[in-house]
Amino acid sequence: MDDPLHTFVSTKHLIAYFSMEIALTPKIPNYSGGLGVLAGDTLKSFADLNLDVVGITLLSEKGYFNQKLDESNYQHENEVQWNKEEFLKKLDVTVQVQIGSRNVDVSAWEYTLIGHRGKPLKIYFLDTNLSQNSDKDKLLTSYLYGGDMDYRLEQEIILGIGGIRILRALNIAPKKYHMNEGHAAFLTLELLRETTPLLPVFEERFNLVKDLCTFTTHTPVPAGHDAFEEQKVRLALGDLFPNESRDKICLTGKFSMTALALEFSSYKNAVARKHKQVSQKMFPDQTIDHITNGVHSMTWTHPLIAELFDKYTLNWRSNPLELRMAYKIPITELRSKHDECKKELFQYVEEKTKIKLDPEVFTIGFARRSTTYKRPELVFRDFERLKHIANSKKGIQIIFAGKAHPRDTEGKKIIQRIVGLTNYSTDKLKIIFLENYDMDIAKKIISGVDLWLNTPKRPLEASGTSGMKAAHNGVPSLSILDGWWVEGCIENITGWAIGEEFVDGDDNYIDHQDAQKLYDKLEQKILPLYYEDNDEYTIVMRNSIAINAAYFNTHRMAYQYILRAYVRNHTLNN
Ligand SMILES: *Cc1c(COP(=O)(O)O)cnc(C)c1O
Repeated sequence: MDDPLHTFVSTKHLIAYFSMEIALTPKIPNYSGGLGVLAGDTLKSFADLNLDVVGITLLSEKGYFNQKLDESNYQHENEVQWNKEEFLKKLDVTVQVQIGSRNVDVSAWEYTLIGHRGKPLKIYFLDTNLSQNSDKDKLLTSYLYGGDMDYRLEQEIILGIGGIRILRALNIAPKKYHMNEGHAAFLTLELLRETTPLLPVFEERFNLVKDLCTFTTHTPVPAGHDAFEEQKVRLALGDLFPNESRDKICLTGKFSMTALALEFSSYKNAVARKHKQVSQKMFPDQTIDHITNGVHSMTWTHPLIAELFDKYTLNWRSNPLELRMAYKIPITELRSKHDECKKELFQYVEEKTKIKLDPEVFTIGFARRSTTYKRPELVFRDFERLKHIANSKKGIQIIFAGKAHPRDTEGKKIIQRIVGLTNYSTDKLKIIFLENYDMDIAKKIISGVDLWLNTPKRPLEASGTSGMKAAHNGVPSLSILDGWWVEGCIENITGWAIGEEFVDGDDNYIDHQDAQKLYDKLEQKILPLYYEDNDEYTIVMRNSIAINAAYFNTHRMAYQYILRAYVRNHTLNN
């Protein structure tokens, strides 16, 4: 019984996992990107591992948005229609949450996620679109990341406080509360309130709540951390406002959701080793561990590649750590399955863009949120050199996709410029942009290209997960050493690095250096390998499965959360 995992499993240790977005299937459009996909993948692994977990999120009835480019290639956001009754069951439960002087009723819809071993895991989607609510309050669970800061504050009150009250109404009393990012941090205040009659001394309540809570931070960009005007939070929360902890939470004059989550969590983690170092500097008074992200292997492996895993590993579906056995896959078989995935992607590209790509030509993928720090245009910085490299070999094809956040004007301009460049495609250099990036399109691109490109500005990529999805399909990465790639890159074995982990200079200088190093690698290492020594290239592809997919998956990640965050409640220094 000393084995913590055994104790954990045998004591029905219920975990409540709170996340503003949870991406469970491409058919439920309540996610915007990496954070939601990670939450969905994590819950899928929890279900596969037979753990007792419930998920809590917002309904996001009108979704994130559908991307539509106008004649000038500028992004517009269209409302998403989806039929919630098809996927969710309306529960007969209503609770009330106070926002300032208003009473807002909150109800819930239930999604049942079935794990690999048949175990159901419930996810509750909070809903304020109820007849008794005002027209304004009905919309509080409509738009993911929509509206202004007031809307966001009110959404987060629904998620944190409404979420706990819904759990209570359903008779659910978790042993741990996991805040996936700071959006749900108000839940700590509801837990404090609940325990007040039992523990009148604040210090005792504080310790109890802290013992119950766990927090994962996801961004090293300060602007990525929600912070509200203190006075607005005071008015909205009323008696729930944490006066005793005010000075720890309103550090910069604003009420910081991250500071709130950190203050009331006993275990706090970043999502990659490098991200931990950056987070630790941002919050020097806190002890922050790291658990590197992963992806759900079964979700992100193309069925054709999965056939190989079924054939050459014992049981990768229940234990993705078995993917190390990918070394047994004959490279001819991997090559031929990959070629099929590539054809499938090219067929999709042709349907959508009328452009025919050549399956014999080396193809690069780049798909993620369009925003400045991810530097989607870095590969085009010296367009003449890129053309020269493509001309000197048998060519290069590049496939892009990505949505910009509705308020990210610069991100939209990046898309506009990249789509503009598609007109400069030549016989040897083809540039493609696929509209309306989502999980379905992600699946097609990550399995169908030959190389996954990732060029964030250091140290702003907390982890990044699309490269892990690519690795599951035998697609190696060429990436800046940031986020997960610091841990995932073994040069020439699992892929390639662009430049060094630490760089000095202004942005313009670093962009220039990184672009030249990117071209050098393509020209001197990657293209010669692909075109002149394809067996060796395929070995790198296979390594990316055996070394990286075997590790960067949510099953491994789930084990680490159980041991460090849920059971032992301590930090391992590694
Ligand atoms: C995986 C995924 C992301 C996250 O990709 P990053 O490389 O972490 O930026 C974003 N959007 C969708 C649709 C995804 O599937």
